Amino acid sequence: MNRFAGQTVMITGAGRGIGKAISCRFAGEGARLALLSDGEADLLETAGELAQAGAEVMTYVVDVSDQQQVEKTVEAAAAAFGRIDVLVNNAGIAWEEPVLDIKPDHWRKIIDVNLNGMFWTAQAVAKRMAMQGGGAIINMASTNGLVGEANYAHYNASKGGVVLLTKTMAIELGAKGIRVNAVCPGYIQTPMSEAIDSPEFIREYVRAKIPLGRIGKPEDVAGVFAFLASADAAFITGETIVVDGGQLAF
Ligand code: NAD
Repeated sequence: MNRFAGQTVMITGAGRGIGKAISCRFAGEGARLALLSDGEADLLETAGELAQAGAEVMTYVVDVSDQQQVEKTVEAAAAAFGRIDVLVNNAGIAWEEPVLDIKPDHWRKIIDVNLNGMFWTAQAVAKRMAMQGGGAIINMASTNGLVGEANYAHYNASKGGVVLLTKTMAIELGAKGIRVNAVCPGYIQTPMSEAIDSPEFIREYVRAKIPLGRIGKPEDVAGVFAFLASADAAFITGETIVVDGGQLAF
């Protein structure tokens, strides 16, 4: 399939984990890529692999929680590519912390990257899309934005915010031809989750909670982003799609 030939897709947090899998998926379907991350080494490695495979790729080292950096980056990418057809708003951080122990700087950091960063990026790109007559924005939420999980109060609050940001942007921007959706993955194996949980924890988690009997792969999530960006999703906006192996079916 070459569904995104000639389209420019901007992806944040593109250097590793789910963002890397999404970048590979869109590159494989013919997209031109503007890849953003605060991790320069990972970003350059991913971009190098994709360029080697024939993709047109530009990289931008940016902290999405810095509104001015985001605005400049979106301007630079729009100037380089002419337009931005799809935004994959993926960059995020997570760690465990009991609610009674969360200090202000830790609370602010997670909200700043996962919610504020997602808003700065979506807003800057949506302004471009409004000028060019439309586009698709897909925000990375989480099952943790739909149900609670102990020791993730800041993370859960940030992802719950992303779900309602998504719905509100969809309502306001539909008339401008901009679709805004969110994806809510469950447990996915990435550098983020590997840094938090042991293999023993994961085995028990799968046994107790996931009907499909395994944790997710980044590729399981990437295909859903591609679907939501594609013409097959032309009448879908304000939606959140859960990709969790059945976990929330309980
Ligand atoms: P990861 O840590 O493997 O990758 C995150 C990427 O985001 C990295 O490339 C990192 O450099 C980048 N990033 C982090 N902070 C940034 C910032 N301030 N500015 C720019 N880039 C930044 O994580 P992942 O597991 O691939 O997670 C990707 C997204 O998926 C996150 O939003 C995460 O919350 C969400 N998610 C992950 C899981 C999971 O189980 N792994 C489940 C649900 C949702």
